[in-house]
Amino acid sequence: RKAAIKDAIKFAKEHNARMVDLKFMDFLGTWQHTSIPAHRLDEGLFEEGLGFDGSSLRGWQPIQASDMSLTPDPTTVRFDPFPTLPTVSFICDISDPITKQPYSRDPRNVARKAEAYLKSTGIADTAYFGPEAEFFVFDDIRFDVKPHASFYAVDSVEGAWNSGRDERPNLGYKPQLKGGYFPVPPLDRHNDLRAEMAVTLEECGIEVDVHHHEVASGGQCEIGIRFDTLVTMADKLQWFKYIVRNVAHRNNKAATFMPKPMPGDNGSGMHVHCSLWKDGQNLFAGDKYAGMSQTALSFIAGIVEHAPAIVAISNPTTNSYKRLVPGFEAPVKLAYSSRNRSAAVRIPIAVGNANARRIEFRTPDPSCNGYLAFAAILMAGLDGVERGLDPGAPMDKDIYNLPPEELAQIPSVPASLEEALQALADDHEFLLKGDVFTEDVIEGWIDYKFDNEIVPTRIHPTPLEYKLYFN
Ligand code: GLU
Ligand code: MG
Ligand code: MG
Repeated sequence: RKAAIKDAIKFAKEHNARMVDLKFMDFLGTWQHTSIPAHRLDEGLFEEGLGFDGSSLRGWQPIQASDMSLTPDPTTVRFDPFPTLPTVSFICDISDPITKQPYSRDPRNVARKAEAYLKSTGIADTAYFGPEAEFFVFDDIRFDVKPHASFYAVDSVEGAWNSGRDERPNLGYKPQLKGGYFPVPPLDRHNDLRAEMAVTLEECGIEVDVHHHEVASGGQCEIGIRFDTLVTMADKLQWFKYIVRNVAHRNNKAATFMPKPMPGDNGSGMHVHCSLWKDGQNLFAGDKYAGMSQTALSFIAGIVEHAPAIVAISNPTTNSYKRLVPGFEAPVKLAYSSRNRSAAVRIPIAVGNANARRIEFRTPDPSCNGYLAFAAILMAGLDGVERGLDPGAPMDKDIYNLPPEELAQIPSVPASLEEALQALADDHEFLLKGDVFTEDVIEGWIDYKFDNEIVPTRIHPTPLEYKLYFN
């Protein structure tokens, strides 16, 4: 750690940093930050941390115990390309300033404990995660304020052109519903924007595999980034969202990771690729179905069994469940398959390359908190491995076109956030192992979501209700 601290301070000097930005993940999944002048960056900061008021953050400390401390992780230093003044940035861990104990509701702390638990089981020493966070790019509302914007969003999809707020009369070069995947420009209007995002990601040290337009018409995009270990990947996912949003913003666009912004068109998923490794060996490669090992199959079985509870964390918004409906490439059925994109778990083809053997859990969406979601997925899969579960036969048929009797046999994901939270309340022993999630985290999560999202959504009239019921 001493060496990492020295390197980080050196990095700040080399980049002529004027400011140091301290970023941390809140409970729900939004980055928060506070900044200090660069001359205050010294070894003491990494030891003592920086105090802040935790009571003003959603879902955290009650007011009577509000003092908390931020400690920058020196290994997370990066140059932040967005502030005007040269700024280096750290991701921080949260602790109690008196006891120095890591804070149980700090998502990064949960993720670190999940990695530690994995090692403690002896099953594997490393878990790799590769999330594919899709997003939409819309024209920035600052330049496009219309009195009833939300009405247009509802109406436009039936007319079926573009983002709903784009009323230019010329219907040429606009992808139709589900027509975004993936014609060249000028139909692909966001090629330059994605390229700028991709280059900025790489300049920040986040390796990009590919970028492309996604299926939905309203400017849906995907930029694939390279997999990494659990905590580091969750850190990078946060940089990814930050860079995507900020590059869009400086181009007068707005990027959103909301799972289902456009009724009637595909939503944005965040498929999560995952594999377990030990001593440099991929434990998922084997001679079972689709080149997988028994460990991989048990891991899949754990995910499928606990999926109704996991989705309360990996699909954590009321909007998430508007994506999880049949017909939009979002998996609804809890089954697995090597070919089938309609199954919740897919095994991507990795012919001849044992190191690339992995599973793809397709249910999660990018509104989730990466630290908590990856930790929950790992804990569910590990529970399957520890109990030697078997996932049964794969589902290689197109699930969307199964006869209804057969379809009814396959369990579904919960239909609403409320159902998912109930599933989490009923099934979370697997998350408590190794003290990774605590009862307090689970309870805090369920209560927060219920009081601040479910109840308000339930009592709030929507544009669609006006359309249905006004007259
Ligand atoms: N957008 C789809 C989803 O909601 C995924 C499309 C794809 O296969 O990449 O999960
Ligand atoms: Mg995709
Ligand atoms: Mg995918």
